[in-house]
Parts: sequence; structure tokens; C-alpha cells
Amino acid sequence: MSDTPEPDAAGTLPVSPGRRHAYLLALVVLPFAALGAAVCVAWGRGLGLRDLVLALVLYTVNIFGISVGYHRLLTHRSFRCVRPVRVALAVAGGLALQGPASLWVAEHRRHHKYSDRPGDPHSPWAYGESGLGLLRGLLHAQVGWFYTERRRSDRARWAPDLLADPDIRRLDAAYPLIAAASFLLPAVLGGALSQSWAGFWSALFWAGLVRYAVVHHVTWSVNSLAHCFGDRPFTTRDRSTNLRWVALITFGEGWHNWHHADPTCARHGVLKGHHDPSAALIRALERLGWAHDVRWPDPARLARLTSAPARPSPEPT
Ligand SMILES: [Zn+2]
Ligand SMILES: [Zn+2]
Repeated sequence: MSDTPEPDAAGTLPVSPGRRHAYLLALVVLPFAALGAAVCVAWGRGLGLRDLVLALVLYTVNIFGISVGYHRLLTHRSFRCVRPVRVALAVAGGLALQGPASLWVAEHRRHHKYSDRPGDPHSPWAYGESGLGLLRGLLHAQVGWFYTERRRSDRARWAPDLLADPDIRRLDAAYPLIAAASFLLPAVLGGALSQSWAGFWSALFWAGLVRYAVVHHVTWSVNSLAHCFGDRPFTTRDRSTNLRWVALITFGEGWHNWHHADPTCARHGVLKGHHDPSAALIRALERLGWAHDVRWPDPARLARLTSAPARPSPEPT
């Protein structure tokens, strides 16, 4: 990985070597170790139903927390909602262990500003177009940038709205507690449901550690794979794509080409057959009266940005 600073360092702050090594351990080594251990344990004695259900529930909370909370609500302001729902979505995003909301938002807004160009914190095209370059780029976009990037997006530059929000400030300060709860909650539930310490440890492993690793790699696959493989039915300045299987596991985030074409749109899957559970959740919140000012797809914009024959389906789910 290159050691040279990114050409456009505006709006960034340096990261100390100690913090970069902490990122390396927590965000790169630990998830890979957890996934490796999961394969070994599953091979030996399988995965119990209780742990599987706990992991799936937390996975669902996490993916919606990132997609609807951190991404569509806090980063792009695709809709507004009542305060308890906003806080709940931000907590659900925090439980995904991808950092405090303001930092996540700052990095992602910078990604949109410089997508696939110098200044993008995690473009898979950072190392060129050759096969080897793309392989390095995919690794960089998936997890490598946590360690190799020597500068972080400055929250004061990219997320001043969130720094001025008392709820988000409190949640950012409470992030270590939320992170601890993300592991302890399933462990305690596993222990209580099984009435045993074995249940505690096994839930901590499967619904805590392994779920954490899976959620991370699923989310980061949007940064890596959905800027390389898949369709590009819409005209954008970057190389974002729509990737169906990534959309499936990220609850709609894999419809990334439309997202870059119209970043504030609350619905990412806008073509026929593009299922978007995150948009469905926002629609449900709207129907309950808990979400409002939702930016649903604009048919005129959709038609204007369509670069290939496609069947637009602008109606929200
Ligand atoms: Zn992107
Ligand atoms: Zn975005």
C-alpha cells in the first residue's frame, strides 16, 4: 500500500501511528481471526439455533442501523424523523461497531465528494486498472484503508451538523459503552436463555464476535465490490455499480450506482426488481407518522440519469 499522502488532504486530520495500529487490530485482524475461528468451531460442533437467532437479530439491527440510520438519515438527510426514532437508528448504527456516527458520516461524505478520484478515502481504483492493481485496490477499499490512510476526515469540516446536534454528541461520547453493549447484550441473553456460562460464551462468540466480523465485511463490500462489479444503468462521475447480491445482504445498499447518481434519495433500488428493504423501513416509518420529508425518487431525474435501457420503477416500496 502506498505511503504517500492523498493528493487532496483538505478536510482531513493526521492519524497517529498508535491509532492506526489499533485500527489494524480491531478492524482488520480481529474480524479475520473471528471468521477463521468461526469456520473451525462450526466444523467441530456446529452452530446452535439460539446463537444463530441472536446473531441474525443483531445483524438485522446493525444493517438497518448503518443503512437507514448512519447512511440515509445522518449522512445524506434523505428523510427527517421524530427524535426517539432518530436516536434509536443512531444507536442501532453504533451497535454495528463501525465507529461513532460523526466520524462515519465524515468519511462517507468525503467519499461522495471525491468518489474514485484522489481524496476518496477508499476507492478500489486507487492502485490503477491492472489486475494486480485492482486486487490491491479491492483489499484497500475493503479494510486496508483503516490502516494505510494516514489522515482521517475532519468532522468539523464534513459533519458540522452532527457536531452541533446534542443527541449525536452524547451518542458519540457514549460510543465505547455502545460498543461494549454490542458484545455483552447477546452474551447475557445467551447465558440467560441457556441458564449456563457455556451459553454466555458461545453467544459472545457467534452473536458478538462473528456477527461483528460478518456485518463489517458485508458493509465494506459496498465500498469495494459495488465500485467494481455489476451494472451501471445510471450516469455518474464515479465507477459505482448496482450489485444484486450485495444489495440483498445489505438490505438495499448494493444498488450503489443510483445512490451515487442521486445521493439524497431515500430509495436506492429504483428499477424494477430492485428490492430495497431499507427504503421499505423508511416507508413504514413514514406511514406511522414517525418519518417525514422523505426524498423519494424523482421520475424526471431518474429518466435523465438513465444511461442504458432500463425499466424505471419510481414508485416507493
Ligand atoms: Zn460509493
Ligand atoms: Zn452515501
